[in-house]
Amino acid sequence: MKKLYDVVVVGAGPCGAMAARIAAESGLDVAMLERKTDISFIRRCCTGCLGLKDDFMDDIQQFDDKTKRLLFPRHGFSVKYDGPYKNVYGFHLASPLGARVKLGSVTENKKRGNDGRVAVMVDKGLFIKGIVDEGLAAGVKAYFNTNVIDVWNEPEGVVVADSKGNHYKGKFVIAADGVNSRLVRKLGLNQGRRWLGTYKDRAWDMAGVEFDEMEALIFCMGWECSVSLAPHVQEGLYHVAVASYDWKLDLEEGIQKFLQSKAFAPWFKNARVGGHNTSCVSNIYSSMPNAFINNILIAGDATWMQECAILGALLMGWKAGHSVSLAVKQNQINKEGVSDYVNFYTKDLIGRYGMGGGSGIDFSDYFSPEDMEYMAAIVDNPLRSTLDFYTIYRTISKTYLDLFPRIQDERPDIMEKLFNIRNVHPEVGLQKRRSNGFLSVS
Ligand SMILES: Cc1cc2nc3c(=O)[nH]c(=O)nc-3n(C[C@H](O)[C@H](O)[C@H](O)COP(=O)(O)OP(=O)(O)OC[C@H]3O[C@@H](n4cnc5c(N)ncnc54)[C@H](O)[C@@H]3O)c2cc1C
Repeated sequence: MKKLYDVVVVGAGPCGAMAARIAAESGLDVAMLERKTDISFIRRCCTGCLGLKDDFMDDIQQFDDKTKRLLFPRHGFSVKYDGPYKNVYGFHLASPLGARVKLGSVTENKKRGNDGRVAVMVDKGLFIKGIVDEGLAAGVKAYFNTNVIDVWNEPEGVVVADSKGNHYKGKFVIAADGVNSRLVRKLGLNQGRRWLGTYKDRAWDMAGVEFDEMEALIFCMGWECSVSLAPHVQEGLYHVAVASYDWKLDLEEGIQKFLQSKAFAPWFKNARVGGHNTSCVSNIYSSMPNAFINNILIAGDATWMQECAILGALLMGWKAGHSVSLAVKQNQINKEGVSDYVNFYTKDLIGRYGMGGGSGIDFSDYFSPEDMEYMAAIVDNPLRSTLDFYTIYRTISKTYLDLFPRIQDERPDIMEKLFNIRNVHPEVGLQKRRSNGFLSVS
């Protein structure tokens, strides 16, 4: 008979690596299957920015510079990271003509040193490798270069098959195989989710970039592709990324338009591509209403809307690994056994954040660059410092609500557009996104 593991974890991203480590540290017999050969080599885009201090996914994460550990104080665990890191002091939204809405002044926050930071940039490859190494030391049996292609239930356990014909059997399986999860697709779990479009990304590490307040994460509005800028963990490099829901758009052309624009060209006049480049294509769905089926726990991006971020992936991985450990110790190999994870997912995550989906509205369809410049320039900077996207959204909404009387007075034309947007049915924007994407067999 095939060996029966306590748990088979599919995927060794932040979520799967964490789940496997915790289960092994709790004494479980763990197999971890990962498609990549070198886990520390990152090919998929990820800025590697870890937001700190705000209440995110039911914890308030901190980075301890002395012990080099990322702390999850509410849940009582931590993750070692002794690689290079860099502080981030704010989140800025830039209009196409250059004005910036600043959630956090870099200049002011920097004076407070580590207390003033809102995030740290990390080397994601080293970060994951650290967790995997701890897992291996705790006894995780890792299978790299292993592409999982199927999953099914048998009376004694859940079976996972790889592309070489090997089978791995577990009392539980944790599916942590990322945003385009094959396991989720195989289990038919995308059927109940809203398909929100296909997102493609490219990112370049550039040398020679120079402007004021660089140590902020900056989202640039109003371009046909969305552009984001971030400090790079490595001194002298800067992270430039571009993305679109439209598969026809050439991202290389998109970034060139931005780099050569009047407002931003001065920042890049000495810039050259100087490091590692990444890309990815993701099919985006709303989050799953629940994350358990037939002793399979779905965790991390595999279950979430677009991306749960590294911190969310770690948290879900920790919770899933912990929960499976409890179930195995109590010999309760069923949904009740892992109720800790099931309830955390439905109550603390979906209950708090919903299943997502948004309106799909693209502001550049409604506002000219000049409109956006006006809107950015009237904000009394800086706003509250944060890098939690839910807090960012709430802070910006409240700021503009308070500014409505002034906008009505100074620019009634913009106010009218704002009102018009409110009346656009959410499906209108989403329909455009969907028609510009491609839905794989789900
Ligand atoms: C453009 C972009 C920028 C981002 N920037 C940030 C950021 O700055 N900060 C942040 O916190 N988050 C960021 N994210 C999100 C972050 O990368 C993810 O939320 C996080 O990595 C999810 O972790 P995960 O473990 O769930 O999935 P993943 O990191 O995707 O890991 C899944 C793992 O499963 C493996 N796998 C997949 N399929 C199989 C298979 N069939 N068989 C075996 N193995 C398989 C993959 O190789 C991978 O190692 C960004 C994402 C994108 C797209």
